Formats: sequence, C-alpha cells, structure tokens
Amino acid sequence: MDCIFCDIVSHKSPAWIIYQDNDITAFFDYFPASKGHLLIVPNIHNSDIYDVPDTTLQKIASLSKKIALFYKEHLDIPALNILQNNGQAAGQVVFHYHMHLIPRIPWDNITLWWTPDESHRDSYDELRDYIQKNFS
Ligand code: 5GP
Ligand code: ZN
Repeated sequence: MDCIFCDIVSHKSPAWIIYQDNDITAFFDYFPASKGHLLIVPNIHNSDIYDVPDTTLQKIASLSKKIALFYKEHLDIPALNILQNNGQAAGQVVFHYHMHLIPRIPWDNITLWWTPDESHRDSYDELRDYIQKNFS
C-alpha cells in the first residue's frame, strides 16, 4: 500500500521525527500551520479513529500532553490546538490516522472555526443509552 506516513514510520521517506517507539511516531508536519506543528501517528497503518486500538490512542493522548506541557513551560507558547480529522468530509487528506498538535499565539491568523447553527441544538438519546451501557 502506498502511504506517506507508513513510509515515514519505516524511515523510507524523510521526516523530522522527534519520538518513536514500538507503537507510535511523532514528527513535524511538512506543511505546518505554525512553527512546531506536529503529527503523532500509530506505527501500523490504521486509516482513522475507527481503526486505532484503544491502547495506541491512550499513548498518543499521553504523548500529546507531554509535548503540550513542553511547549507551554519551556517554549512559552501559550496555546495549542489538538485536533484530528476522520474522513474526507472532515478534512482528512492523509488516510493514516494522525493527531495534529498546532501551537498557537495570539493573532496568528490561523482559522479553524465554524459558524454555529442553533437548528442543530438537539441530542441523540440513543447515543447516551449506548454509551452508558457500553463504556465504563
Ligand atoms: P489531514 O488533513 O489529513 O488531517 O492532515 C494531513 C497533514 O499531513 C497535513 O497537515 C499535511 O501538511 C501533512 N503532510 C502531508 N504530507 C506530508 C509529508 O510528506 N510529510 C509530513 N511531515 N507531513 C505531511
Ligand atoms: Zn499508513
């Protein structure tokens, strides 16, 4: 399979890797939104959130926090977006799961926002029931 992030994980393609272990790899985005824009990926080819094992997600979350704290405490970067796209309609372009860490400073001109639509102010009761039964 042709996948740029698989190639980066296996060192077939170059990238500025800051961390790698048996499960995950973190490297700088090649087309960054801001200085320090990082991606964290599973080493195996999981396309999106629907595919990634929970233990891998936990490691990615944990590494995100370490990096976030470093940016805040050592580089004095006051804010950070952590985001992750699943599916074309959500803006996913590379179909190997990745978490974005995007350092932010005031007035940096990066836009990530949507127009709120109050007509969507509603709930999915079946979701609440499902989660209460199936997640603990
Ligand atoms: P997505 O829109 O799928 O969430 O984001 C894909 C990200 O991968 C983009 O931010 C893009 O800049 C980054 N990207 C695409 N190709 C490469 C590459 O070859 N190397 C690196 N380091 N990042 C890439
Ligand atoms: Zn891949």
